[in-house]
Amino acid sequence: MIYFDNAATTKPNDEVVALFNKVETESFGNSSSIHGLGFSSNALLNKSREIILKYFKLTKHNVYFCSSATEGNNIAIKGYALKFKSRGTHLITSTIEHPSVLECFKQLESFGFEVTYLKPNKDGVIEPEVLKHALRDDTILVSIMAVNNEIGSINPIEEYAKIIANYPKVKLHVDATQAVGKINLNYSDVDMFTFSGHKIHGLKNSGVLIMKKGIEMIPVISGGGQEDGLRSGTVSTSMAVSLAKALTLSKPSNSINELHDHLFNELSKIDGITINSPKNGSSYIVNFSSTKKKASVIVEGLSNRQIYISSVSACHSKFEPISYVVKEVTGDEKLASNTLRVSFDNSNTMEEVDAFLKNLKELLETLKWSIHILWFALVNFLQKVKIKNNLLKHWQETFADVYLIFQV
Ligand code: PMP
Repeated sequence: MIYFDNAATTKPNDEVVALFNKVETESFGNSSSIHGLGFSSNALLNKSREIILKYFKLTKHNVYFCSSATEGNNIAIKGYALKFKSRGTHLITSTIEHPSVLECFKQLESFGFEVTYLKPNKDGVIEPEVLKHALRDDTILVSIMAVNNEIGSINPIEEYAKIIANYPKVKLHVDATQAVGKINLNYSDVDMFTFSGHKIHGLKNSGVLIMKKGIEMIPVISGGGQEDGLRSGTVSTSMAVSLAKALTLSKPSNSINELHDHLFNELSKIDGITINSPKNGSSYIVNFSSTKKKASVIVEGLSNRQIYISSVSACHSKFEPISYVVKEVTGDEKLASNTLRVSFDNSNTMEEVDAFLKNLKELLETLKWSIHILWFALVNFLQKVKIKNNLLKHWQETFADVYLIFQV
């Protein structure tokens, strides 16, 4: 099998799973309990926080464990905006954020906030100048992702932090889910950032919100007051420990740059393929559109050969077959409705990239010949029954669509 869907999720690392099992079975005490088992569980939690802060070389932040990047984003964005509504009701984000960020802002609009959605440039990047112009006296929060999950564009987070430093009322939140372990970023001036264990060979349902000390919030999840009251609910020590372990094992790898460049170059030579990712984006993500064959058909065809890639992001592919990110960046609805995403992890190899390319070309070629034969048969048939030209054209288009949908 070739697994190229690492932006959707990664295979959990064996060491991480083993550690999870060990902690889950041996240190199962509730970290809030005031007995020995509780204390040792709490000590493991705090050790995990330390490891995470050390990984990012942070001294002025706290770590809060939660169930996912989605939850971390909700806690940070809604929690901060609701807490400081009296200071201002203007918020800023971008049009190509992950739904776990965009939906928070949409909800906040319904609570009376005004949101400015910044547009990316043609490389999928929010230019710092664009952010500068959007900031206002009543702005209290900016949330812009580090790396886009669909096209891999990298935003200049450190530059945003410098700009925002001139606005004491404004906090910067960064969804770093596709950046952590993949690109080196300095988060020391970022007020809050979030990521998820399962994107770095950890476990699903483990996430983290890292936040500068002293930032106050309204708790989005109320209850027993765990995680400094920000995220109530018994903390899973085993999840926290496994996330810290997964993080220490994740490092950007230079070998991925070679895979990325090779894939990028080879794809750009294929007739019927348009690349949507910027060339200087994250090496871990390459997004492209097929103009000749339905993306879902290619995903299925490859899947039948045990090669796994995505069409639109797994987070909304079941609900919305069009990529709002590619539409926003390219302005082309046709490209946006036929996107494919290859996403690497450090274990992927050049041989796998070549095997993927070979299979992709074969699938595209199969279609080409079947379409030619179908055209020929159809046009002959329609001419025989002497259907008028404009009706013929209409039939050709309809049949082409139907055929694209059913082609396997
Ligand atoms: N943000 C980004 C950029 C993501 O790629 C994802 C996962 N697709 C999330 C947030 C949500 O992560 P989780 O699955 O942990 O909720």
